[in-house]
Amino acid sequence: MGMGSYDLLVLGSGSAGLYGAIKAAQLGARVALVEGGDVGGTCPNRGCLPTEHLVTAAERYYYGQMVAFRGVKPRKARLNFAAVMREKEAVVQQARKEKERMIAAHQNITFLPGRGRLVSPHHVTVDGQPVTADHILLATGSSPITPPIPGLADISPLNSDRVQVITRLPRSLIVIGGGEIGLEYGQLFLHFGARVIVLEKEARILPREEPEISNALRRYLGEEGMEIHTGVEIEAVEPLPRRRGYRVAARKGRRDPLVGRGRRFRRHRTASEHRRPRPGRGRREAPSGRRG
Ligand SMILES: Cc1cc2nc3c(=O)[nH]c(=O)nc-3n(C[C@H](O)[C@H](O)[C@H](O)COP(=O)(O)OP(=O)(O)OC[C@H]3O[C@@H](n4cnc5c(N)ncnc54)[C@H](O)[C@@H]3O)c2cc1C
Repeated sequence: MGMGSYDLLVLGSGSAGLYGAIKAAQLGARVALVEGGDVGGTCPNRGCLPTEHLVTAAERYYYGQMVAFRGVKPRKARLNFAAVMREKEAVVQQARKEKERMIAAHQNITFLPGRGRLVSPHHVTVDGQPVTADHILLATGSSPITPPIPGLADISPLNSDRVQVITRLPRSLIVIGGGEIGLEYGQLFLHFGARVIVLEKEARILPREEPEISNALRRYLGEEGMEIHTGVEIEAVEPLPRRRGYRVAARKGRRDPLVGRGRRFRRHRTASEHRRPRPGRGRREAPSGRRG
């Protein structure tokens, strides 16, 4: 028997921490699971699950109006964006409850709500209260960052967390960063009917993927109406008078100043995940496969 009150203390109940805690409990360990935010972490609350929900709703809305047969007239769909967001929130809450049930089903997991702070290799404080354990698993995940672009922090830009609570569809959106999260949200807002402009610093979108994927996706998204600018350096962001949106001043190479208007988005520092591109070059029917 070790020195701690628990065999294992897990900091963070996201995908990593929760399943680490459950596996340890199944193997007979006494586990403390510490969570300072929403149970389940990013994926069910602000990541995969709500994003999939919104992507799917946007796809149904968009592709439902794009029938590629002359003899088939699509019905006019009506969008209630606030209702889509409410439904998304209900799905998130259900998933969170499911995670809470999973934790409660394991008697040797003690759930400790609160912010954990690592004091020493066997000692953590949870909202100031000391807890000891033989082993500590740090599974604190990641959260969005604001890139150091002049003016950006002052306008509290949308990011993958803040976008979860909006209730009105932006008419236009400037997406800073053509990575997977920026493109996924860019495309879903495009499908809902917003004008979307993507500004990417590198020479191509999805710079960590193969060039063929970047090129195919750029062509496909361009055909859907997304405006994509690559090799772009953003110089400043400022609000327009009378809450009319934001102005983003950017430069392509050394010349060609570019100015876009709209709401803003930015990338997240997680998401090293591999994303498959949407199938169907320029075709307008709904893609058949969904990402799992
Ligand atoms: C918009 C978006 C879409 C995504 N889509 C997908 C997808 O389709 N497929 C996929 O596989 N992945 C996707 N991901 C990535 C996926 O969500 C993450 O890989 C996953 O959530 C990481 O899990 P984690 O346990 O490492 O961290 P997290 O889920 O971030 O969990 C960390 C937890 O630790 C808690 N915490 C942090 N600090 C403390 C502290 N000091 N004390 C107590 N608790 C603390 C946090 O509150 C949080 O609950 C997406 C991410 C985003 C943002």
